[in-house]
Amino acid sequence: MKLFFRIIMVGAVIFYCCSCGNVRSGGWGRASAGGDGDFEVQESARQYVDTAMGTVIQQTVYASEETASAFFQEAMALLTGLEQEELSWRLDTSEVWQINASAGNEEGCSISEEMEALLQECLELYGRSGGAFDITLGPLTRLWNIDKWAAGGEEVKNDFRPPSAEELRYALGLCGSDRVRLVPAVSEGEEARIFLPEGMQLDLGAVGKGLALSRLSGLLEEEAGVSGAVISLGGSILTFGGKPDGSSWKVGIVNPFDTSSNVGILSLEGQWCVSTSGDYERYVEADGVRYHHILNPDTGYPAESEVRGVSILTKDGLLSDGLSTACFLLGSERGMELAEEYGVEVLFVLSDGSIVMSEGMEAYFTEL
Ligand code: AMP
Ligand code: MG
Repeated sequence: MKLFFRIIMVGAVIFYCCSCGNVRSGGWGRASAGGDGDFEVQESARQYVDTAMGTVIQQTVYASEETASAFFQEAMALLTGLEQEELSWRLDTSEVWQINASAGNEEGCSISEEMEALLQECLELYGRSGGAFDITLGPLTRLWNIDKWAAGGEEVKNDFRPPSAEELRYALGLCGSDRVRLVPAVSEGEEARIFLPEGMQLDLGAVGKGLALSRLSGLLEEEAGVSGAVISLGGSILTFGGKPDGSSWKVGIVNPFDTSSNVGILSLEGQWCVSTSGDYERYVEADGVRYHHILNPDTGYPAESEVRGVSILTKDGLLSDGLSTACFLLGSERGMELAEEYGVEVLFVLSDGSIVMSEGMEAYFTEL
């Protein structure tokens, strides 16, 4: 009941916020009073707020009422399908659930072409991040109970105790993308196979929303009647097309020190994806210590660096999400190098309050 009330409250705040047409990156759906409020909603803007993939989905599209309402329905069906049929590790209807259930199985598990491409990209990021970004941390993220922190409300947070050193050691022994074997399909009509060692479990939480942005982008491209759209998935943002008055999309970058405000605004035109990872997005406290949701695969504890938040700007949703997590883990110096290697723009908010960004990001960012 409490949770239901919370979702309604968040929805109401966002709906109000939509009326200034702005969105914010970072903050898992806590999109309050966002943006700089510098333009008004135009007549053809339609808005819709709902929940899917465990987060708040906020959509604004420029289209006729009929086209917009058909699009909203299709978008929600796409997101629900992505969660239920592909990504969820909780639902036995999903492909990830089946892969996890096959861990230790000598025959492995056959996977779809889409899953093969997704896993290949994640394994590549594992290598290029020096093992910091690791989708096999399922045993560890479950031990920390991360997904319950947000969904379970105050009771879960109050009862929280960090895992013991022994529990962490055991869970860490089950992780490691270097022990995943992905065998590509060799001939047409054949499926690729994945082999996980006993006890290993995938957790695609670091890329799920980004993949969703990529899929939504494809849906918008197919939908001739939508001239412009901005969609926020709990703080991962997709912009598409333009507004009738030609002004740019405004995406606020959340201030990690005061999440009701922004450190600055990105002004974007056309199709872009912005994802943010931060230590303020999901966390719990026990005995005065704060624990956040991005884990260091070497120690099993929340990653520590001088970075409080990282935002990635790129055309590719999956990359924006994966790299925001990876760059958070690597810190600003190595994260900057990785972003450059991948050809994406990056912005770090550091723990001393300073902002460091790639050269290309400067063209889009206005500090507040
Ligand atoms: P994001 O908010 O996109 O940075 O993703 C954070 C989520 O990714 C967490 O809630 C976990 O499900 C998962 N995760 C945590 N640590 C890691 C890691 N080192 N590598 C990959 N995924 C992680
Ligand atoms: Mg991510």
